[in-house]
Amino acid sequence: MIRPAIMLEARRLSFDYHKPIIRDISLSLKPGTITGIIGPNGSGKTTALRLLCGIMPPLSGEVLLGGEHPLSKMRRKEIARHIGMVPQNGGFYQYQTVFQFAIQGRSPHLSLLGFESQTDEQITLEALEMTQLTQYLKARVTEISGGEKQRLLLARALAQQTEILLLDEFTANLDINYQVELLRLVQRITREKNLATLVVSHEINLLGAFCDHLILMSKGKIHHQGSVQEVLTREHLQHIFGLDFSIRLLPGGAVEVLPVINKDCSQCD
Ligand code: ADP
Repeated sequence: MIRPAIMLEARRLSFDYHKPIIRDISLSLKPGTITGIIGPNGSGKTTALRLLCGIMPPLSGEVLLGGEHPLSKMRRKEIARHIGMVPQNGGFYQYQTVFQFAIQGRSPHLSLLGFESQTDEQITLEALEMTQLTQYLKARVTEISGGEKQRLLLARALAQQTEILLLDEFTANLDINYQVELLRLVQRITREKNLATLVVSHEINLLGAFCDHLILMSKGKIHHQGSVQEVLTREHLQHIFGLDFSIRLLPGGAVEVLPVINKDCSQCD
């Protein structure tokens, strides 16, 4: 699928709640790649995602779809045909089935009357197939596991058929096995469909293994961005998290990061 060289570009974004929250953030998302955002709690990662998908307008700066169309000039429904967001809290309703939840992803594509067509159902079934949820189609969302719920959130975003995917704390509260499986799936879909994917996570090692580009955020600003090896250095991480880190380069370009935690030194020597 032919894509623009830049799928989504943020130019010098700033945003305030009652105080400055985001300052001067610029980034671009490219097709077929996964970009990761890492940063301490409260550093502005979720706010940055909300600006990037047009849920909130920036105080200054702009977000450009395909590197040229400002989101500020587009309607919400139109934006949602291009940018899919998987939020931290998925908004599951007790009585929905897995299929009913996933087909919500088709909303931006429906006519004013809001009826889903057979094509919408087919696209939803394919998204559920891709995320290996076909066997749960008729199950209630309360009857599936935490990991399956995350896959369902991804299925809804895939049913939306956007070329840009923004995932906020997508693997939080899952065991390591599930985290790896989910990111493998996200990586495969990103490559196969030539998507531009942005993942916010606290799992530094997972991002180090799966991302093509990394962004380190601190206090509402981008502290550093670049390749995994450029970003995950002892100096950068120490600066951001105030801890010492041991860094190991792995074959294949991944980086392993371990915080160096000193035991209580009252018993040292
Ligand atoms: P992160 O995702 O990195 O944890 P957030 O973007 O959620 O950071 O929050 C950044 C800052 O904005 C925090 O100081 C947070 O308290 C503040 N903030 C987030 N949402 C709101 C809101 N709705 N109203 C006021 N302040 C908010």
